[in-house]
Amino acid sequence: MKKQIYLRVIIGLLLIAGLVFAYASVFSEPEEPVITSTQKTRFMMDTAVEIRAIGIDSAEAVDQAFAEIGRIEQLFSRHLSDSEISSINNQAGNWVTVSPEVIQLIETSLEYCKLSDGAFDITLGNLIELWDFGANENYIPNATEIEAVLIGVDYNKVSIDKERNAIKIPSGSMIDLGGIAKGYAVDRSRNVLRDAGIEHAMIFGGGDIATIGTKGDGSPWRVGIQDPRESTQLLGIIPLINNTIVTSGDYERFFIKDGVRFHHILDPHTGYPARDVISVTIVADFAADGDALSTAVFVLGRKAGLELVESLAGFEAVIVDDEGEIWVSSGLKNIIVLL
Ligand code: AMP
Ligand code: MG
Repeated sequence: MKKQIYLRVIIGLLLIAGLVFAYASVFSEPEEPVITSTQKTRFMMDTAVEIRAIGIDSAEAVDQAFAEIGRIEQLFSRHLSDSEISSINNQAGNWVTVSPEVIQLIETSLEYCKLSDGAFDITLGNLIELWDFGANENYIPNATEIEAVLIGVDYNKVSIDKERNAIKIPSGSMIDLGGIAKGYAVDRSRNVLRDAGIEHAMIFGGGDIATIGTKGDGSPWRVGIQDPRESTQLLGIIPLINNTIVTSGDYERFFIKDGVRFHHILDPHTGYPARDVISVTIVADFAADGDALSTAVFVLGRKAGLELVESLAGFEAVIVDDEGEIWVSSGLKNIIVLL
């Protein structure tokens, strides 16, 4: 008799516990999404790319952002034989159909070619190849070689058929988007982070940096400008919130022969490295624009370069001239912290 009562009590208790558990699982609040901070570095686009992001599922978002950079590199690298840029270059003289995205970035590039009156010129691929900074070190081409490749350098001769997404460059020409593609990649990876709901991030791709929001504690991201002649020293610090900063410097890829520095930013009018300045930093909303402009201003030199930046809305610059003097555009003077 007693046993039966015990059994009923136990069954009753179990039933009550089951009901309480079922109620709790149906009506309890869903788990709070966890905000995490992720920082990862990968070697891409010939440089170390670092992404820091704070948000929900930040690790997955950062992986997707890296994948986007990989996708862009595959489209735009002149060094990958199966990229769309290589396909245009391999068929110079003929119309080539490419992705709308490729047409769009080339059109943006051509705007900067025009704006800088050819100081920025994406058709200088053969000139870059001739100098071959990095691979064929210390090679200084002679005047005849330079003249021969300069014949193919003229952005005005790039034809685009938007209806067909087709492009044609003259035979003897080669396009090189090295002056803008890294900035574009950084912009696109920022879009991926934003789409994933990330509200605080910094993407650091060598000299091209893009930010989302603040650092997370409400304070701006703070980006240092490297001293062009002292790699461990900073010249100044610029606060960034949602904008980008891009630097072109003669210290990135260069060699020194008989005391003269030869570097990878070439003046399309002379065929030789641009000499008037040693570093140009541009602050802009988009890194693709800042990237093209930093290369253009580097070639234009301090005076014409600063004039161009002052004439454009939404762009600021810090230029270090060949004597080490620092020039800051008017909108940045009260923002930059010079060290
Ligand atoms: P950046 O480091 O952004 O100034 O870009 C330098 C890269 O842009 C070089 O490695 C070349 O691939 C390319 N480049 C060099 N000189 C020019 C120029 N005058 N116009 C356009 N692209 C250039
Ligand atoms: Mg550039």
